[in-house]
Amino acid sequence: MQHSPMSNTDVATTQHRRFTAIVRVAFLPFMLLGLNGAAIALAGGGAPKWQFVTIVGLAIGVSFAAERIAPYRSDWNQPRADTPRDVAHALVNEALQLGSLLLLPSLVTILAIDGVWPTGAPFWIQVLASVAVVDAGITIAHWWSHRWKPLWRLHSVHHSIERFYGFNGLMKHPLHQLFETMIATTRRHTAQAHMTNRG
Ligand SMILES: [Zn+2]
Repeated sequence: MQHSPMSNTDVATTQHRRFTAIVRVAFLPFMLLGLNGAAIALAGGGAPKWQFVTIVGLAIGVSFAAERIAPYRSDWNQPRADTPRDVAHALVNEALQLGSLLLLPSLVTILAIDGVWPTGAPFWIQVLASVAVVDAGITIAHWWSHRWKPLWRLHSVHHSIERFYGFNGLMKHPLHQLFETMIATTRRHTAQAHMTNRG
């Protein structure tokens, strides 16, 4: 069998495949280590708030671009009349998240336990400790939501989606999100309250 030289189309296809492979491999380390690392470094240095907003904007932009370039399944990039529903969930759930932040000072006052949080540890260790505590809380809330029927009725909304794309991670029943946030963060705030009170 004779080998013919590669046509322009073949070259373009090969380059596209290579680019897609790079996006697939680099996406997770870029988001997890790159952007999170940048945010932790900025927070440790007391950077102005707008810089964090820029990082979040960049993370959202890169996520949407990556799923366009290297989708797990290309048909997941096609809307299935689900966009208005997902936008509504995003608005309601994000507003609730912001609302729960406003409750933080009251929680701190009520639930403070002195001396539990490692306030003397370097900032990045405190960040990792926060991640571990919050993630354990989310896991417990999630585990429980799959096993107890009243909680499953709320959580099943999250599992009703028919395609994965960047916007439907927020597709949760607001009450489920409230429950999950409560379990995930209350213990952390309780432990950290002493530090926060001291400013
Ligand atoms: Zn689940």
